[in-house]
Formats: sequence, C-alpha cells, structure tokens
Amino acid sequence: MPHWSILGQEHITSHLGNSIAQGRLSHAYLIAGPPLSGKTTLALDIARALNCTGADPPCGGCVQCRRITLGRHADVQVVTLSPDPRTGRMRNAIAIEQVREMEQRAALGPFEGKSLAFVIDPADKLNAESANALLKTLEEPPPRVTLLLLTSLEQEVLPTIRSRCQALELKPLGQEVIAQALTREHNVAPEDAALLAKLSGGKLGWALAAAKDPKVLEGRQERLEVLLEVLGSGLERRFQVAQEMAAQFGRNRPPVLEALALWLSWWRDLLLVRAGAPQLAANADWQASIAERAARYSAEEARAVAREVLATMERLEANVNARLALDALMLAMPRKK
Ligand SMILES: [Zn+2]
Repeated sequence: MPHWSILGQEHITSHLGNSIAQGRLSHAYLIAGPPLSGKTTLALDIARALNCTGADPPCGGCVQCRRITLGRHADVQVVTLSPDPRTGRMRNAIAIEQVREMEQRAALGPFEGKSLAFVIDPADKLNAESANALLKTLEEPPPRVTLLLLTSLEQEVLPTIRSRCQALELKPLGQEVIAQALTREHNVAPEDAALLAKLSGGKLGWALAAAKDPKVLEGRQERLEVLLEVLGSGLERRFQVAQEMAAQFGRNRPPVLEALALWLSWWRDLLLVRAGAPQLAANADWQASIAERAARYSAEEARAVAREVLATMERLEANVNARLALDALMLAMPRKK
C-alpha cells in the first residue's frame, strides 16, 4: 500500500494512485484548499511519489521519500513570496526573477532523485508578468520537472495558469474523520479529539497542531478574548489593537489571518445562536459567552460585522495597508455595553 501523508482526501489519492500506476502523473497540478487543509502535505506526497524507489510510491520509507519528508531533498524547491533584494522589503507578488531562476534550475534537471518538483506557493500571488513567464514552462515543461501550485484563493489564480494545470481540490473533512484520525493515529483522548474536530472547521492540519501544542488552543482563547475586549472598548484601545495586529502582520501574516478567521466564526456563531441553532456553532466551548452576547446585537448588525471581517481578510491578502484595513474593521464593530 502506498503511504499518503494526506488523510481523508480519497478522491485525490485514489486518482493520483491510478495516475502513478499508469505512469501518467501530470506535469502541473493546482492544489486548492483553505489554509491548514493539507496543501503542502499533498504537494510533498506528490514529490515523494515522483521520486520514490519503493514498490508502492509514495512508500514513505525509502531514502528518497525520507529525505523529502525531512526537507533535505535537493530536487524539491519552494518558490514563495520573498523580500526584494534591492529594497529588503517583502514583495507582494512572486517576481518574474524568481520564475526565471526556477526555469534555469529546471533546465538542469534533478540532482539526486528521478524528478524535480517546484512548489509554487501561493499561486494566486503570481502577477501578470511572472505568470506570463511561467506559461512556457507550463506548456512545455522540461523532462522530469513537475510544478505543484498551491492556493487558498483559487479564483484569484490567473485563468491562463489555471487552465494549464490539473486541479486537485482539498475538501473540508467531516468532524468524524478528524476525530478518528486524532484518536487512532495521534493518541488524542476521545473527548479532546471531539472538541478539536468541532473547532477545526474541517482542517486536519489545524486539529493536529492544536492537539500537539497546547499553545494553539491557548492562542485561540487569547484571540477570542481580544475580540471581546475590543467589543467592550473605545476607539483608543481599538486602534492600539489594530496597530499591534498590523505590526504582527508585517512580521508574520498567517497568525493575523487566523485571528480574523476566528473572529469571523465567532460572529457566525452569534448568528446561529440568535437563529436558535446553537448546536451548529463552531466554537462549542464558547457557547455560554456567545449566548450572553447574542441578545445585544441585531442579526443585521452581526451580519454586517461578519461581512466586514471577511472583507478585511481579503484586503490583507490583497496587500492593502494593513493598519488602514484593521482600523476600518475596528470602526465597523458596534460597541455594546
Ligand atoms: Zn519511497
């Protein structure tokens, strides 16, 4: 049996298994799914399958598979957002120079394995210029080169790129699948697994991280406490929080986007509680506090705030000024005593 690291995405692994058996893996895949849903895990699975020397690729145990798992394989290269060497500032798109460098490396072929894999992450940050430079490689890839493009914003990947890749879409996993994976494969106590599965939003990566590191749940707790604090505070404190979040976003983006995703889920839960469906709420452990606040906001107000949180996440992803976007969000949340 092949050893896929990705769990619960049988529609993808059985399809890839067939392609491997027929020796017909595509030279370019677009792997789409929300953050922490397993895009990188799947990309590395494909890289292992391409280079595996075992009987059932990806076997997970041969030297090739293990070197890829350890991040030491010279033929797995990641192309991602990086600082501009001229200014030292983080680029907001994957630059054409990066695509050219990648093509030079591609022309040399694999060094230590059978196949050279480039992980392009995020593919929605290829701008018109860099995407254009990539088209040639997508159309006529050098032999033994595979492109693995990742995105959590599939609609923002340029159509010229999308149409030249085979799409693999990660589905959110059911709570049962996540709870089972946690208890069976990671020795998490069943009651903890059930709560984590419920909180995970169908993202196994999140549930695993939370099971392994108590800081994930603590961090979640803190982020929700910041939201409640903001809701009860005046503008001075709110702008202070916006400033702290903007500074953090400048250093490391994902935690801020995760905090906003959590805030969004809190507002959705508030709407569910208002609508008399608390059992559907994602933040099961916060139900009492949400119920207490549900009466203070009208459904229209809660929907408007939820829309604004989502719009803020989209603005941040689109590289607007983070401080301005977060200040605007602070202004959009009604203050209720
Ligand atoms: Zn192997």
